Amino acid sequence: MSNAAAYALSTPDGAFEKVTIERRELGPHDVLIDVEYAGICHSDIHTARDEWGGTRYPCVPGHEIAGLVAAVGGAVTKFRVGDRVGVGCMVDSCGVCGPCLADEEQYCTRGATMTYNTPVDPAVQPEGYTMGGYSTQVVVTENFVVSIPDGIALDVAAPLLCAGITLFSPLRHWGAGPGKRVAIIGMGGLGHVGVKIAAAMGAEVTVLSHSLSKQDDGKRFGAHHYYATGDQQIFRDLRGRFDLILNTVSADLPIDRYMRLLNLDGTLVMLGVPENPISVKSFNLSGLRRSLSGSMIGGIAQTQEMLNFCAEHGIGAEIELISADEIDSAYDRVVASDVRYRFVIDTATI
Ligand code: NAP
Ligand code: ZN
Repeated sequence: MSNAAAYALSTPDGAFEKVTIERRELGPHDVLIDVEYAGICHSDIHTARDEWGGTRYPCVPGHEIAGLVAAVGGAVTKFRVGDRVGVGCMVDSCGVCGPCLADEEQYCTRGATMTYNTPVDPAVQPEGYTMGGYSTQVVVTENFVVSIPDGIALDVAAPLLCAGITLFSPLRHWGAGPGKRVAIIGMGGLGHVGVKIAAAMGAEVTVLSHSLSKQDDGKRFGAHHYYATGDQQIFRDLRGRFDLILNTVSADLPIDRYMRLLNLDGTLVMLGVPENPISVKSFNLSGLRRSLSGSMIGGIAQTQEMLNFCAEHGIGAEIELISADEIDSAYDRVVASDVRYRFVIDTATI
């Protein structure tokens, strides 16, 4: 075992404190990573504050990890000391079920091991559940580590490990590209990366934001159109407009109204996770053979494909770099939609 410094929350309404956690000895396939940067995803906040229930304390969140390989186990073939690497939302899965064999480990039928707050054998993580990236070091099996191409700086790469893949995967799955009209609801951490990726794929991109305050940024990220959803007229003007709508908002939205913005065979994909059930009139599905779906992050192979794509197209997240003692105020600002567009912790300050 080795010690790592980390920032943890001990109660849902407490403040982050510096703690010491243990990391396991390297097994043959393990990679020890010196974490350089850790992004703050809204899911970290939902979990750390126990908004989804089932949070184990002390909780060390963080699933947008970028760093450098510090050591490798004897059988590791993919990485060497000094490599630039990333870890996202998962650190293991069963490897033998249908989804795992299809490179969709996030849908592992036995449940993927998430980067934090998943119960594991103490041999895997001595505390008995996984501890995330708000930490100086992590140990991860090599199949769940990806390479960060030289073309992307580590700090702006970190948020791609969750926000990037969460948008890239449905954009690929539903065929975003030239001739496709894609709308993204909410231009926060997920949404702003989605705008950049969808535009780079060649789609016609529209942002549906709750105000026009970020319009100039949206256009700079590649959006062709930008509308404020507070203006009721847009729901009439944009009726039947889109092939694909990605909803990144976790708050309850009137989904039925957005369904009517889809064209023939269009799909609305839920990425944010609202607390309450969704209500949709059947006629808004059958009318133009529309679909309502959802998507969760993406597989490891596709995460690597996404990073390569982002490097090729010069895409990184827009970030505000913070020190570890600013996590609490950063959380409050994310909840208030006051971040442009992702907070990233400089782990040298832990
Ligand atoms: P974020 O940075 O807080 O962005 C969310 C955006 O939603 C805000 O910037 C805002 O955009 C909009 N919004 C927030 N509150 C709203 C409200 N009350 N009404 C209307 N719009 C509102 O969060 P994030 O990190 O992008 O995460 C978004 C959601 O996705 C979270 O629920 C997170 O847990 C979930 N998530 C899901 C996956 C997955 O695999 N499916 C992965 C990661 C995260 P505008 O100002 O532009 O309206
Ligand atoms: Zn996330």
